[in-house]
Amino acid sequence: MSRKLRMGMVGGGPGAFIGPVHKMAAELDGKIELVAGAFSQSAERSRAAGASFSIDPSRAYASYGEMFDAESRREDGIDFVVIATPNHLHLPVAEAALTAGIAVMSDKPATATYDEVLKLEAAVASAGLPYGLTHTYAGYSLVRDARALCAAGALGPIRKVAVEYLQGWLSRPLETTGQKQAAWRSDPALNGPGGCIGDIGTHAFHLVEYVTGLKITSLNAALRTVVPGRRLDDDCNALLRLESGATGTLMCSQVAAGERNELRLRVYGEKGSIEWHQEDPNRLSVKWLDRPEETRHAAGGYLSADALAVTRLPGGHPEGYIEAFAVLYREFADSVTAWKEGKPGALPATLPGIEAGVRGMRFIERAIESSRTEAWVEF
Ligand code: NAD
Repeated sequence: MSRKLRMGMVGGGPGAFIGPVHKMAAELDGKIELVAGAFSQSAERSRAAGASFSIDPSRAYASYGEMFDAESRREDGIDFVVIATPNHLHLPVAEAALTAGIAVMSDKPATATYDEVLKLEAAVASAGLPYGLTHTYAGYSLVRDARALCAAGALGPIRKVAVEYLQGWLSRPLETTGQKQAAWRSDPALNGPGGCIGDIGTHAFHLVEYVTGLKITSLNAALRTVVPGRRLDDDCNALLRLESGATGTLMCSQVAAGERNELRLRVYGEKGSIEWHQEDPNRLSVKWLDRPEETRHAAGGYLSADALAVTRLPGGHPEGYIEAFAVLYREFADSVTAWKEGKPGALPATLPGIEAGVRGMRFIERAIESSRTEAWVEF
């Protein structure tokens, strides 16, 4: 296709966190352009966001329904929509887009509840349109390298994983101050039943399965609500069992005071282990049983082909969060283009899609059940 793909956005209104990040990332590689949006539930705020993104004022809509209706009639209508709203809207927006023949890139978690994600899975299958899910960390080159090392058996059989995602920003009842991001995340009707476990636990869960290539088969999770009066969990410790007999731990918290986005993954095999840390994402540490440890640097010519394929800059010029997001967008754009050219197919295995969405929602549901019953639960 000789033109850029046209993207619409739902969410990303004034003061929103992730919507503007999606715009930056989607446009980074020159394959996509934001042209329309229903950026807020308020028509006025949607217009204001549209102006700040410099889109045609007539394409800043008062609702996502109006956007899909108008855009699907235009010859130059949007090719896909990105969903960057609170979780309760992920399913209705995705369903409306798919019904209008518009592909979907959604932020995580895929939906608010497990029941909803099963409906979404059916809608994606019957529409036959690309559906991508922005588990951002899957876009880092050294996460791709770690995944390739595991797939090649470089570590030997995997025996143990340790993943943690620690934040401190909800250490006090921020949601009672009107802080927008905290407010909806603490409201079960807007967020879904899994608080911290849904917001960041799903990222940790996804990273384990994505890097190791192993599915988690059962877990024993203890969810807690540390801050008095909060309606959802804000802290979790879980034990994991993986297929192949490996075991592991998953810890996530939003009350770990002082932490920002402390996502760290360690994977131990018979021959060695890897460690990747999101706040220092351009290094991958590999420790060997019987030789000195290595540090693999982003852009190193010795990295796996999968890592080099998503590398933009020479070593020592750090790539980060927006570039990782942009990797997912580049892969998604290629899938949408193929579909538009009449060559529909599965998403590349490196890009999270509906299967990852279903796994993530199952993880939340299972963790809540395990915590409620104080028992191991099977997936
Ligand atoms: P936010 O509160 O900052 O932004 C949400 C936006 O949605 C707001 O602009 C709000 O006005 C808009 N909105 C609400 N109802 C709407 C409606 N009916 N129509 C149109 N717009 C509407 O929230 P956020 O922190 O940006 O999170 C949004 C989503 O992104 C969540 O699902 C969250 O889990 C996810 N997220 C993902 C990552 C990541 O790393 N992938 C990071 C942060 C957030």
